[in-house]
Amino acid sequence: MTRPTQATISSAAMQHNLARARSWAAGARVWAVVKANAYGHGIESALRGFSAADGLALIEFEHAQRLRDAGWRGPVLMLEGAFEPADLDAAAALGLALAVHSEAQLRWLEAWRGAGRIPVHLKLNSGMNRLGFPPAEFRLAHARLSALASVPTVATMAHFADADVRGGAERALQCFLAASRGLAGERSLANSAALIDIPAARCDWVRPGVILYGASPFAGRSAASLGLRPAMTLASRLIGVQRLQAGDTVGYGSTFTAPGPMRIGVVACGYADGYPRHAPNGTPVAVAGVRTRLVGRVAMDMLTVDLTPVPGADIGAEVELWGATVPIDEVAEASGTIGYELMCALAARVRVEAAA
Ligand SMILES: *Cc1c(COP(=O)(O)O)cnc(C)c1O
Repeated sequence: MTRPTQATISSAAMQHNLARARSWAAGARVWAVVKANAYGHGIESALRGFSAADGLALIEFEHAQRLRDAGWRGPVLMLEGAFEPADLDAAAALGLALAVHSEAQLRWLEAWRGAGRIPVHLKLNSGMNRLGFPPAEFRLAHARLSALASVPTVATMAHFADADVRGGAERALQCFLAASRGLAGERSLANSAALIDIPAARCDWVRPGVILYGASPFAGRSAASLGLRPAMTLASRLIGVQRLQAGDTVGYGSTFTAPGPMRIGVVACGYADGYPRHAPNGTPVAVAGVRTRLVGRVAMDMLTVDLTPVPGADIGAEVELWGATVPIDEVAEASGTIGYELMCALAARVRVEAAA
């Protein structure tokens, strides 16, 4: 018997969300961000969903190779660039563009004598203080890259720390526009939140990630209200039913106590499948299409749900952990995290199927 825990990936939803991103992009070209195994959806699914993207952006060289092996001929941008000098050979061989965010990466390029040429995206540290050149060093870095015969084009990029908060990105936006003013090359700046909320950040290319998978980049604004469709459904089935009396408890730590007689269902899904262990009592779950709530602590392989709103549900009933009925962002919020983390954390043991 196959364990019923399954993720279903809808490339139709991904196509829809990409079209939605394009409508916000207002003519800017779209890098579909497919890092972290396409936010847990799988690189091959991403290719089906985002075949209409202008380019694909990611971090992992193994996955860039898989994109090429699967036939993607369009632009590919490596968002963290090279991790070691040998990555330059891989980039040239596979036709990848590289972010250049550090003096070390710049020196590797200056020293590189390999075959081929590598387009680069020079990254500005516009205030997030993770990767990128400080504004005072940005133009000199641009000039050094522009002088290299091995580098055909030098684009510029930066990444927002606070684009999901109203007004939060203004300083970083001005910093980038000032630092890149007058420099040759295309510019890219906007993540999902900036693409939706900051028209001035669209520039030549936008870089949406999470919205393409149908989750919201904003706390308090649902994906549905943004016109997005969930690309991932995590589903399972009831493998057990228990009748509780008042005072009975459920699961490890006995964190839920029945207030009166009630039925609970045992679902074949736990934290080893990627469901968050910190999801508290009350986190939404759907059983046979009816929204109900998690009760008791999430275990490695199982979780338990209140069957009061679905009295007919029995062993074998379908359970949606997240998807169209239970938005992933609601599960994330209840669990003190964001939809991004839940989709990326989908575990390898979960069977993944393409939606019909
Ligand atoms: C992940 C990432 C994005 C996409 O961010 P979302 O918030 O998912 O839209 C864009 N740019 C860079 C550099 C990234 O690392």
